[in-house]
Amino acid sequence: MSDQTKKTVIVTGASSGIGQGIAIAFGKQGANVVVNYYGDEKGAQFTLDEIIKAGGQGFIHQADVSKEQEVIGLFEKTKEKYQDLDVLINNAGIQKDSAFAHMSLDEWNKVISTNLTGQFLCAREAIKQFEHKTTVQAHEVAKGSIIFISSVHDLIPWAGHVNYASSKGGVLMLMKSLALEVAPKKIRVNAISPGAIATDINEEVWSDEEKRKELIKLIPYQRIGEPEDVAKVAVWLAHEDSDYITGTTIYVDGGMTLYPGFVDNG
Ligand code: NDP
Repeated sequence: MSDQTKKTVIVTGASSGIGQGIAIAFGKQGANVVVNYYGDEKGAQFTLDEIIKAGGQGFIHQADVSKEQEVIGLFEKTKEKYQDLDVLINNAGIQKDSAFAHMSLDEWNKVISTNLTGQFLCAREAIKQFEHKTTVQAHEVAKGSIIFISSVHDLIPWAGHVNYASSKGGVLMLMKSLALEVAPKKIRVNAISPGAIATDINEEVWSDEEKRKELIKLIPYQRIGEPEDVAKVAVWLAHEDSDYITGTTIYVDGGMTLYPGFVDNG
């Protein structure tokens, strides 16, 4: 696979975890990486430093993906700096867990507006930029690519996390419907659905020995994933080598979606 030198990539939520891993992986490919963050400026700066060390370029940009004007600002700034956008990694996401009967409207709205509306807003701005691209690539290659970071919970129901699972279920059909709409324009849209990846979002589980053991029982491959497991797939899925793939979800989950309860005869 050739490198992705000079590709311009926006990664939302790139100040930690999976987004940080993906942003650094693109940096290693020599890309221009826009490191979006929400509250963790230090984390975003660390990501950018690693990108530059690895031979890439970029800048950090604070924006709440659930706020329309802030998302527009993120994409305008990217255009100003690098002209044409090539890849959007729609990654920013949160959890706010609660038993359903006690879930507040705020807990519901916050998760839906970040995980689903945020991905809608960013995808819309990316599509606008892809459609108006000034540098035209070889006509056999996509004009642009969007990768939604969804979750195994776009498939696996999750008690106590109804807001989160609903947001990711929504992302699945957002991704597929959008892929269908823009394929004739030579824009690719796909998703990666991670299983359990050790990041801040689930630290409370993987840092506790007992909870960790319970989690491993759900992973046939018998290990918790790392951000790099997702990052390698994202780099490939944004590359011309995967040019004929659109509307697909790749489950990067160590087999979590294989009904692990049936490993031993059910
Ligand atoms: P982290 O908590 O490590 O990272 C979340 C990132 O999202 C941070 O960079 C955070 O920014 C950013 N963010 C949160 N809210 C907003 C907002 N309103 N606007 C912009 N950015 C925001 O979690 P992960 O890396 O684990 O999660 C990344 C994605 O992967 C999420 O979509 C999550 O659902 C998904 N995922 C994760 C799995 C896992 O096991 N870890 C499994 C399946 C899916 P900041 O810190 O600057 O506030």
